[in-house]
Amino acid sequence: MSVTAEIKFNCPVCKKDLSVQVERMKVIRAERNPVPIVVTHGQPEHALTLFIDKEFRLRATSGSDIVQRVQDAELKRRPFVKRFVPFPKAENVSLGGLDYTQITIVALADGKRSIEELAEILEIPEMRVKIVCEQLVRLGKLDSVRVVME
Ligand SMILES: [Zn+2]
Repeated sequence: MSVTAEIKFNCPVCKKDLSVQVERMKVIRAERNPVPIVVTHGQPEHALTLFIDKEFRLRATSGSDIVQRVQDAELKRRPFVKRFVPFPKAENVSLGGLDYTQITIVALADGKRSIEELAEILEIPEMRVKIVCEQLVRLGKLDSVRVVME
């Protein structure tokens, strides 16, 4: 087996069909499934995020740099604020039948990021994130949504 896996994707920004080599170990060792991988390309240069599952299949594509957005949201996090936080299952869950929004939330819910932060990262309304998280709990794809004060 080669060190990298070739992932084919269609860029949502420039609409081109492209492919990228992804390090297999980076995906295998990642704590969560699917794994967000940021790809930068094109002229003018733009970043997008591929969500790759543990079998190296592309599950969702976002036309923005989700990893940068996660870092920005975490920098802005304030302590002592009551937050609604989705908690992941202890084990990796199957992604079959899930849509784009559900998959990206499963990928990013880590028991620390709040619904408010996920809404900002994924650029979707907070109420929608809340509803999708509740659906994912019912489907057994997330453990729970808890109120966290830290
Ligand atoms: Zn592009």
